[in-house]
Amino acid sequence: MNTETQTNQQKDVQTSTVTACAATSCRYNENQQCTAGTIQLVVKNDMPACGTYTAR
Ligand code: SF4
Repeated sequence: MNTETQTNQQKDVQTSTVTACAATSCRYNENQQCTAGTIQLVVKNDMPACGTYTAR
């Protein structure tokens, strides 16, 4: 993996509004609902992921 690819994978790709989420270990998750309002989507290991996730 070259530096450019690594940079692209760590780049935020967009913001989004989310309601349902299964990541119950996140501090923004209440009864499998996201309370963060908007989140940042990132790419990790070629998969989209929530960049706003914060452990409780
Ligand atoms: S911030 Fe991300 S991981 Fe946390 S509840 Fe919202 S969508 Fe899920």
